[in-house]
Amino acid sequence: MIRCVSCGAEYDDDEVIYTCEKCGSVLELVSDIDVSKDIFDGRRDTLWKFKECIPVDESKIVSLDEGGTPFCKCDKLGDELGVNLYVKVEGSNPTGSFKDRGMTVGMTKAMELEVSTVGCASTGNTSASLAAYAARAGLRCIVFLPSGKVALGKLAQAMFHGAEVMSINGNFDEALEAMTALALEKHLYLLNSINPYRLEGQKTIGYEILRDLGWQSPDRIILPVGNAGNISAIWKGVSEFYNAGFVKDLPMMTGIQAEGACPVTNAFRKGDRRVVPVENPETIATAIRIGAPVSDIKALNAIYDSNGYSETVSDEEILDAQKLLARTEGIGVEPASAASIAGLKKLVDQGVIDKGETITCVVTGHLLKDPNTAIDACTKPTEVDADIDTLRKLLMNK
Ligand SMILES: *Cc1c(COP(=O)(O)O)cnc(C)c1O
Ligand SMILES: [Zn+2]
Repeated sequence: MIRCVSCGAEYDDDEVIYTCEKCGSVLELVSDIDVSKDIFDGRRDTLWKFKECIPVDESKIVSLDEGGTPFCKCDKLGDELGVNLYVKVEGSNPTGSFKDRGMTVGMTKAMELEVSTVGCASTGNTSASLAAYAARAGLRCIVFLPSGKVALGKLAQAMFHGAEVMSINGNFDEALEAMTALALEKHLYLLNSINPYRLEGQKTIGYEILRDLGWQSPDRIILPVGNAGNISAIWKGVSEFYNAGFVKDLPMMTGIQAEGACPVTNAFRKGDRRVVPVENPETIATAIRIGAPVSDIKALNAIYDSNGYSETVSDEEILDAQKLLARTEGIGVEPASAASIAGLKKLVDQGVIDKGETITCVVTGHLLKDPNTAIDACTKPTEVDADIDTLRKLLMNK
């Protein structure tokens, strides 16, 4: 069953519907978990090991073996900050971001509904993922990208997997509005995170974190927030497993935004449950360069209900954290993902996070998604002839 998060109106699972017909609010799937957690043992470690908890037809699954991502204990960085730190590495998904978790479920639903065309607006990763899954499913794929603001790796993926890519003169919020209008006219099936089936896949990040910690909850989950679907999904996941009795505690959901694109943090500071859109969002972390997050209600509910928090970080703090994670722990992430690490650092400094807390930072996308930003952050390699004497001198002088 699909239910409106604001007025509680209910809809059938097979209705193609993105927002509530009665009040316009966002929708969610409602499902009860009536299995024992033991049934997950011994299955291959993809998100479909949780298939009993994902409300789609098992015979229609479109998958690239997403999920089951690394859960790295980061003692060097954790000791430096005084916390017990684990990093959930979502860049290890098939197309390099957590979007694949949403897309495998969304595309499976598209097959159930027998649609022929899928579409999305994207800051980059959604389009990269959708293009790959549409290719696997054999469906036509249309993507709208904000002109000039998509990281190189993501653009390459969307184009190479055969999506019909439109470069929209406007920002992400405008591209999404146009794409949504076309979906409502039934030209295509919309696979942005307003589609509640996307979040049914992404909630498995929450499932896996609890499982990865040996069926315990961290004190806190920290992640970057853009359109605010992922924080909502992870909260849904951990809440479902908590309600099923698989764990005894719940984590504080902590959403980090970029200073130039922070409607959710602004709302949190005022204690509001809706955002005031940010008109011209700007940040180097293009994956979270979003001014009007569609899942704002769900995200703010998640933060308040979990006794969580929201904070902003500057582009400089993001780039510093990106480099810190890469050089102390060997984990390469794109700028948006590093917002979680930058936020952790800031909240430890502010005393919001206590020393000794067990923290899971979700790092959402791979370093190679945005090679230009990575190269700009480094000194150029020295050009030198392949002459052993010169090379020896150069190395010894370092
Ligand atoms: C999509 C994305 C985000 C933001 O997630 P939302 O669900 O839009 O809040 C953060 N980081 C990366 C790498 C992404 O691709
Ligand atoms: Zn409603």
